[in-house]
Amino acid sequence: MTQAPNPPAPESGPLPAPVLRIVPPSTLNAAVSIDDGGIVVGWSEEAETVFGWTAREVVGRRLSETIVPQRHRADHEAGLARVRAGGDSLTLGRVIEVEALRADGSEFPAELVIAPPSTDAGGRTRFTAFVRDLTERRRLEQAHAMQFQVTRILVESPTLEDAAPRVLAAIGENLGWDVGLLWVVDRGGDVLRVTAEWSRDGGPARFLAGSRDLSLARGEGLPGRVWSNAVPHAVSDFAAHAAFPRADGAGGSGLHGAVAFPIVAGDEVIGVIEFLTDEVQPPDPVVLGTMSDLGNQLGQFVRHRLAEAELRRHLHELEVLQRSALALSASLDLEVVLDAVAVTAAEALGAPRATVLRRDGDELVIVGEYDASGTSARGCRWPVADLPGAEQVLRGEFWTGTLEGLGPSLHEVTARTGVTAVAMAPVRSGSEAFGILALLSRSPRVLGEDEMRLLHGIASLAGLAVGNAESFRLEREHGRRMASLETAKSEFLNLASHELRSPITVLRGYLSMIAEGTLGPLPERLARVVPLLNSKLAHMNALVDEMLETARLEDNRLQLNARVVDLRDVASACVALCEPALQPGQRIDLRLPEQPVHVTADVQRLEAVVRNMVDNAVKYSPGGGDVECTVWREGGRGLVRVHDHGLGIAPQDMDRLFTRFGRIVTAENSHIPGTGLGLYLARETTRMQGGDICVESTPGEGSTFTLWLPARD
Ligand code: ADP
Repeated sequence: MTQAPNPPAPESGPLPAPVLRIVPPSTLNAAVSIDDGGIVVGWSEEAETVFGWTAREVVGRRLSETIVPQRHRADHEAGLARVRAGGDSLTLGRVIEVEALRADGSEFPAELVIAPPSTDAGGRTRFTAFVRDLTERRRLEQAHAMQFQVTRILVESPTLEDAAPRVLAAIGENLGWDVGLLWVVDRGGDVLRVTAEWSRDGGPARFLAGSRDLSLARGEGLPGRVWSNAVPHAVSDFAAHAAFPRADGAGGSGLHGAVAFPIVAGDEVIGVIEFLTDEVQPPDPVVLGTMSDLGNQLGQFVRHRLAEAELRRHLHELEVLQRSALALSASLDLEVVLDAVAVTAAEALGAPRATVLRRDGDELVIVGEYDASGTSARGCRWPVADLPGAEQVLRGEFWTGTLEGLGPSLHEVTARTGVTAVAMAPVRSGSEAFGILALLSRSPRVLGEDEMRLLHGIASLAGLAVGNAESFRLEREHGRRMASLETAKSEFLNLASHELRSPITVLRGYLSMIAEGTLGPLPERLARVVPLLNSKLAHMNALVDEMLETARLEDNRLQLNARVVDLRDVASACVALCEPALQPGQRIDLRLPEQPVHVTADVQRLEAVVRNMVDNAVKYSPGGGDVECTVWREGGRGLVRVHDHGLGIAPQDMDRLFTRFGRIVTAENSHIPGTGLGLYLARETTRMQGGDICVESTPGEGSTFTLWLPARD
């Protein structure tokens, strides 16, 4: 390992500030004494441990020849000579850091303080230095510095690849390595490959090139071994490991000691960092511990960054899909929607062209299109089988690749549009395969996983938008059909009522002449059916009246003849008219107040309304049961309520009441004749007069219809 830069030797002139630190001398443990001639006169036990010399070996020898490195010896002697000549010692009483030599020739950083000189029994001046081995402390300091640098680099870096060269440099420089390599697991090939490197001063080019070209399997070489064992590993001489693929290269480049540690993310080794040095170096447990911590730190970094990247990707995807959903919901017109789908896909995925292909039997046809260059192939169609992958996509799968093996029908389209690659996602509307969303490019392009997900997302949104547009179209068509049906109904009403009016009038005229005997005496058998004919004719007349009234209402031709009327009179008249229809034992209970209940109304129409209410109450009570007809005044209103104990109306049918032809036909009432116009006319004409009708009903129990009009004083 290369040593840290040398601090100046003792007594070699003023020392730079950072090297000088004052610490209590008691923390220094090895004591060495020399006389003013530089000869060792005292050597403590600790000194024996620190320097590897025994007292017996050094006492009496020149200090500079034992523990002072060769290059500093002259300075040391010069300093001593200066003190001997009465000069000042620059180091006396101060703690300084120096480099010292051990008996085995190795150098180490040391801290020393020289106590004030003393005089021995023989009157000779004596200098005592207290020395401490700083090797361990230096190592810790370097490890901390390295840790700090690595952390800072990671904070500043977006990815491991980005951080790697600087991380390798921080570790290598601080811990004294010569070459550093980052090996990353290539998942596809299941091998390790070098993705970043660092070397001191340019490093051994051949060894680096050899490493770069290498891919290592699990267990292979030092990095492969660390990959499979997931723990740091050190070798004292890399070049001596014949099984290592680069042993020769390392030897040739003068590299020996090596250490490698795994980058562990979760339970997985995702990479290995390897360092080599020019010294043969026995594995050091402290270094291995530091490396293990580093590997975990790097692994956590990678995991956090991956999680962040994943989150960012998701947010981006969500944003794109949100924008797409907005764009696709802007219109319900299918053609507009299909073009919007193509634009959205091309923009979101940065493609020059996108199309929506609709399946039409065995063919595909371009129904939506976006092309940045303005080229159009809208309406082009070709057999599904001519587009490779199309069948698969229509079945719901995704497809991406280059456009090869196209059927002849596609040659013209691809030549015109110049596309060479395609990615396709299925567009499904409900459970049906509507077609394909195709993203096209004019240079080779295969979509990545994220892009495919996005295209899928847009295709799903497209399916929804297509579904919405289709239902809107159906709804609109249905609306149009209903509107024309309504017109037809109105026309029919007009026509039928007018056309029926005159024959009925003629029939009624003749019938009354027959009944009165104007046309001669009436045979008895014929006389018996005349009342029946009369009643049927009256019924037909009433129907035609209702139809005419409805036609007038719809053409805004209905004229009201309003005057003040007492609701008691209206109710009484209507009840009297309905009584003939009562079943045996059935009654209409008419409840009238003593005071008149005046309202302003078109009497004829008001009577038709109340009559319809009472008629219905009787009609829809096939099992009998009394009917109550109540008139009263409440607040500013005059009210008529008709309550029966008949069939009642189911809650789900309530909406159809009061609508034109709103007959509610059930098993119980299907035999009861009606047009479904009565209540419709009743509500409309009542509303025209400032009032309304409402209903409450319980199936099987009966119904209550209540009419109100503004009361008059
Ligand atoms: P209709 O000529 O069929 O009686 P209406 O407009 O008067 O036409 O009534 C519409 C529908 O409302 C009827 O077909 C019937 O099903 C229901 N209805 C009306 N009045 C009653 C009632 N008192 N009890 C039960 N159902 C009623």
